[in-house]
Amino acid sequence: MSERYAVIGNPVAHSRSPWIHAAFARLTAQDIEYSRIEAPLQGFERAVREFHAAGGRGLNVTLPFKAQAFDYCRSVSARAKAARVVNTLVLDRGHGDNTDGVGLVNDLTQHLGLALAGKAVLLLGAGGAAQGVIGALLDARVGRLVVANRTESKAHALAALHAGVTACALDALAGQSFDIAINATSAGLAGAAPALPAGVLRRHMLAYDMVYGRDTPFLAAARAAGADTRDGLGMLVEQAAESFFVWRGVRPPTRPVLDELRRELGGG
Ligand code: NAP
Repeated sequence: MSERYAVIGNPVAHSRSPWIHAAFARLTAQDIEYSRIEAPLQGFERAVREFHAAGGRGLNVTLPFKAQAFDYCRSVSARAKAARVVNTLVLDRGHGDNTDGVGLVNDLTQHLGLALAGKAVLLLGAGGAAQGVIGALLDARVGRLVVANRTESKAHALAALHAGVTACALDALAGQSFDIAINATSAGLAGAAPALPAGVLRRHMLAYDMVYGRDTPFLAAARAAGADTRDGLGMLVEQAAESFFVWRGVRPPTRPVLDELRRELGGG
């Protein structure tokens, strides 16, 4: 019988994870079934317990439950401990992991061919997504990492958890220069962009938006400023591949899945 996995979130109807994991399972001949669970906002733990009791083996956790998933776990990986948010649950062990950071770094290094060592990186946002990727960016030896957020206090709280990371308000970015700007805010989902001072987005830099499947105002502004741009689809596929590995011990090929997903979404 197929082993059962799912993505849990609210909302979750838009999630591409079932499609991605079905593709991984096909390519690696793994017998799994992967579905979506929309948990009530106050009902995360109950939904997890019910899925586990019904034979579920693992869950991907998405907005807004990643911090609750961290609290739910009996043990967590070192990278989840650093992030304090969990996006991958191994239910039998009550174990949590965070694969967002490695997903982002693998997309930047493997699919985009970037060398991150020494680069000046701007991370926009201080929510679960930003929390999840700081450790992996530091592990990749970026030269400078600045976290900037609309609510400045959250950026400072996040930076304080990591040696070598600085924080500021969005308007304090005026005059600063970066090789890579990563938009880890959810602004694009609402058709908005973080309010950046002129000159932050510029030529000869990469502007990366974790939002995928749409052209966001952040990417449009970056393009207008002459920057190279990239959406978060590669990160999505790479974090899923790492979760698949955590659960199944098998590394699925990601390039063909990413290419096919981009075609599905109409991105060429
Ligand atoms: P979250 O915890 O709700 O945090 C949202 C962040 O966005 C906060 O920092 C918030 O700032 C900021 N924000 C929202 N609207 C804004 C606006 N109009 N202007 C400026 N800042 C704004 O969400 P999350 O879990 O971090 O997720 C963020 C995004 O990353 C989501 O869109 C998600 O889909 C995406 N994501 C993608 C992947 C992938 O694999 N590609 C993985 C994880 C997440 P305040 O603190 O000021 O409210």
